[in-house]
Amino acid sequence: DWGNVDRALKDASIALGYGWCEDHNAPEGTGASPYAINSRAGMRVSTNDGYLEPARGRKNLQIVGNALVSSFSFEGNRPHVSGVQVEVDGRHFSPRATREVLLCAGAIHSPAVLQRSGIGPAALLKSLGIGVMADLPVGENLLDHPMMPLYLHLRDEARVGTMMHRHTNCCLRYSSGLGGAGENDMIVIAGNLVSLGGGDTSKGRLVVSVYQAFSQGTVRIVATDPKRDPAIEERMLSDERDLVRMRDGVRRLRELGRHESVRAITTRVEYGSTGCSIEDDLTPREVDDWMFDECSDAQHASGTCRMGGHDEKTSVVDPDCRVIGVSGLRVIDASVMPEVVRANTHLSTVMIAEKMADRLKAGA
Ligand SMILES: Cc1cc2nc3c(=O)[nH]c(=O)nc-3n(C[C@H](O)[C@H](O)[C@H](O)COP(=O)(O)OP(=O)(O)OC[C@H]3O[C@@H](n4cnc5c(N)ncnc54)[C@H](O)[C@@H]3O)c2cc1C
Repeated sequence: DWGNVDRALKDASIALGYGWCEDHNAPEGTGASPYAINSRAGMRVSTNDGYLEPARGRKNLQIVGNALVSSFSFEGNRPHVSGVQVEVDGRHFSPRATREVLLCAGAIHSPAVLQRSGIGPAALLKSLGIGVMADLPVGENLLDHPMMPLYLHLRDEARVGTMMHRHTNCCLRYSSGLGGAGENDMIVIAGNLVSLGGGDTSKGRLVVSVYQAFSQGTVRIVATDPKRDPAIEERMLSDERDLVRMRDGVRRLRELGRHESVRAITTRVEYGSTGCSIEDDLTPREVDDWMFDECSDAQHASGTCRMGGHDEKTSVVDPDCRVIGVSGLRVIDASVMPEVVRANTHLSTVMIAEKMADRLKAGA
């Protein structure tokens, strides 16, 4: 089921000496590989499909749809979370927790719920008139994987037949050896199609991404209203270590894009959406301008409720996912990752949940 862009990336990678590897998720997974995706019979398997649907009939589980949690309820003379404030279809409820509250709203919204509840950077909370329950770096350390594209104008015979074709089947992992990063810090991913609307499959892409990323952004609420989204500053490539590796990554991406196996399936390859052909040399300044203009994330937000020791200034939760300085509350989702993993984030998030489920069942 591979597309022509998959095959071209594989051939170009091997020809350029990157090698072949069966499993890119293996610790030593260096080189071009088949790209792993959670799917069954061509359909993605979400955590809803994998976990929630099979459990829907349980007597001890109640699922409430259209529920928007605004903040927590507190009880007693210390910061103890006793329940949540939630709006369901315009009606307000305050369910009380029998044991504790587990917050799993993801790396963008978990920090927002905490901040609205008075758990976050004191200066931010005070500026919005929110009483401070715990002064913690909630919403700092926003991490993701910076990504840069080349767009491929595909020859007629090289296009996939339909937008339903699997978008990618091949990736290339390599170690940059730059910026003090570890092994397999970078990835290149084939894209057999780019969403152009109207079923147009004329373009594909190759992207390079910094998979061990250091640039830190922020998530900060702008109001106490839970319907107002928080402000997100990703600050992609703001860390010099990411910048030098992305410059090198773009150079390598161009080399792959100019390889004969890619030429054979394309009429033109462009630096992202600049409209400029990769046959043209860009000055270092022009490359930087393009990168700062067009660098995107990989939808892998993480790190905003960082796990760490009680004595570390950067910690929000302890190694048992308990919010430091607050009782009755844990955060269990991608936000607790201290560093963004050198992989796609879904599987690691599932493993965080599995691990914590075992600990909670054991009474931790
Ligand atoms: C478009 C896209 C494509 C992706 N593709 C991949 C991929 O191919 N492979 C991969 O590994 N990863 C992928 N990811 C990343 C992956 O989905 C995330 O890392 C993972 O879902 C994080 O899980 P989480 O539990 O932390 O948060 P989420 O999955 O975001 O779950 C948080 C849940 O909380 C709910 N919520 C938030 N705020 C509130 C509130 N105030 N009240 C009530 N409910 C609330 C949300 O609706 C959501 O259901 C992709 C992400 C996106 C956005």
